[in-house]
Amino acid sequence: MWLQTTIFATTLIIALTVVPWYGFEVGYSWSILACAFVFLWANGLSITAGYHRLWSHNTYKAHPVLRVLFALFGAAALQNSILIWASGHRRHHRHVDDIEQDPYSAKRGLWFSHIGWMLREYDGNKEDFSNAKDLQRDPIVMWQHKHYLAIAICMNFIPPLLLGWALGDIIAGLLVIGVVRLVISHHTTFFINSLAHFWGKQPYTDENTARDNTILAFFTYGEGYHNYHHLFQNDYRNGVRWWHFDPTKWLIKASTWIGLTKDLNRIPNFKIHRAVLDMQFKRAEQKLAALNHSHEWLPQWRQSLDTEYQQFTQSMNEWNELRQQWYEQKRLKFSAATQELSDELHRKWERTSLHTRFQELEYSLKMQSKRINFLTLQLATA
Ligand SMILES: [Zn+2]
Ligand SMILES: [Zn+2]
Repeated sequence: MWLQTTIFATTLIIALTVVPWYGFEVGYSWSILACAFVFLWANGLSITAGYHRLWSHNTYKAHPVLRVLFALFGAAALQNSILIWASGHRRHHRHVDDIEQDPYSAKRGLWFSHIGWMLREYDGNKEDFSNAKDLQRDPIVMWQHKHYLAIAICMNFIPPLLLGWALGDIIAGLLVIGVVRLVISHHTTFFINSLAHFWGKQPYTDENTARDNTILAFFTYGEGYHNYHHLFQNDYRNGVRWWHFDPTKWLIKASTWIGLTKDLNRIPNFKIHRAVLDMQFKRAEQKLAALNHSHEWLPQWRQSLDTEYQQFTQSMNEWNELRQQWYEQKRLKFSAATQELSDELHRKWERTSLHTRFQELEYSLKMQSKRINFLTLQLATA
């Protein structure tokens, strides 16, 4: 604990005093700043794509080369070993907001969830890895855990020294690539546990404090879509729309092209729409209940909401039916390898029509979501 506190305090003090002074007296070259920026991103993405989406949630599979890189640059971020981090993070998801069991519970305040949790006493013998048995079988995770201190020290001194020497200013290398990079890396990734549970919208669930926040996503390599993440933690994406700023998602996806990642797990769009609609119905109901009972439009609004809800249930049923049919066809496809070609063509046609119906259903949910949004808006101004 004292080691952590000392590192946090000294790096922060150096970043706020020595760094500006040196910049004023000597100055920093663009190449040093560029190296620091690249190193910062390597740290951040190792935590988000490696520690978080790969090891904590198993949302995809990664080649050993990538896993070693994540282990090295993740250690450079000084946020503990993968095993400790991922085990704690799994507890965070399981007991989110619980004051006792969530290691960075937002219910204990912004400061605690940001950095306070890192500064508390860690009793090495009492670490509970019962929720991380799979990680204990991963040789790269265990190697990093065993030699964490040595790896962390090497990764924090060797690259800044070497790069500083190569670029002709060792002190600038240590100050910017070493210290400033570490301080920024710490506080931006800590936002995921702190601000992402305080500031933003809750479009998918309000069962916990997690929020979706685009500004935060910008500083946390895409982890700002935290409300989505807490509901669908098995998705390799946090920002599910193509325009969402989620560089972690882009890295994982792009790595499939060169064979470094595979088996990326996605939640079906329909389930995502369903979660959004569930929340919209909930909010519309609350608004309706809060209205004055004698309001002249009340019966009409009540009526439209009920109709919408009926349609929603119908869509759900139809979707379940389609899923059933889809599984059935998949099964047939495997057992019918010897059947006639005309059969195959027929099934192909069926599959495409099934696909179209899935898409239609998805579209109808989207439209419904828009209508309910409009209704809620009317209710809000009533
Ligand atoms: Zn998570
Ligand atoms: Zn969280």
